[in-house]
Amino acid sequence: MFEEFEKCELGFKKYPKQKTKIIIDDFIVGEDFLMIAGLCSVEDEEITLRIAEQIAQLGIKFFRAGAFKPRSSPYSFQGLENKGLEILAEVKKQTGLKIVTEVISCEVVEAVAEVADILQVGTRNMNNTSLLKKLGKQHKPVLLKRGMAATLNEFLMAAEYILSGGNEKVILCERGIRTFDNHCRFTLDIAAIPSLHLLTHLPVIVDPSHASGRRELVIPLSKAAVAVSVDGLIIEVHDCPDKAYSDRDQTIDISMLKELVDWKIQGE
Ligand code: PEP
Ligand code: MN
Repeated sequence: MFEEFEKCELGFKKYPKQKTKIIIDDFIVGEDFLMIAGLCSVEDEEITLRIAEQIAQLGIKFFRAGAFKPRSSPYSFQGLENKGLEILAEVKKQTGLKIVTEVISCEVVEAVAEVADILQVGTRNMNNTSLLKKLGKQHKPVLLKRGMAATLNEFLMAAEYILSGGNEKVILCERGIRTFDNHCRFTLDIAAIPSLHLLTHLPVIVDPSHASGRRELVIPLSKAAVAVSVDGLIIEVHDCPDKAYSDRDQTIDISMLKELVDWKIQGE
């Protein structure tokens, strides 16, 4: 058994044969559809709570918002950091929503893990092997985003760093890759979803917000992802998208989120 364990690449289909299911309280990732919605960045407490309540009212169970933000420019808003984590703890307490938030470095893993139900690794950190190794020793599930220039094999090998450390709760996220065209912020690699399902037993979700960078494309891309059997979506939403602290252009409003949720429920 141990020998077999050593030889196998843990995330790949050959080990184990069944699809991975990740239990988070009363929710089973890989079985229940994982709808995650929320702000790009944690904003002040009043705004964050107000939006979280509207998301909870739609029946969504997972709230996303970054306290630590790995921005492309050092001059952009970098997140509320520890204060943001306190606000997320308050969201959880007041709404019962489960928290998905990003861990940007080894130093903040413990603090983020105290609040988060799912630890997010962003595209810019997919190759941060020290961080991945540290997350391999964590008990919380990890949402691993695909590097914007990573092949599927490189993506799965990044997942292996976490799995081989002993944390088998890895959720893969396709969030768009760099291509020659700039009509979107990135290019959603829709074929990656069925390909990953063939290669791996891990749950696969899609982030149509960062993939497109355009709010009018978020619903169509979400529908496309559902059509190829995605296990979930992670979506940026705000009740006043043009005032969001970050990623305004790709942030949908609450009525668009409701439209998507209603469409998904009708199809079930
Ligand atoms: C995010 O989810 O806010 C984010 C920064 O995503 P990505 O790492 O995919 O750019
Ligand atoms: Mn964002």
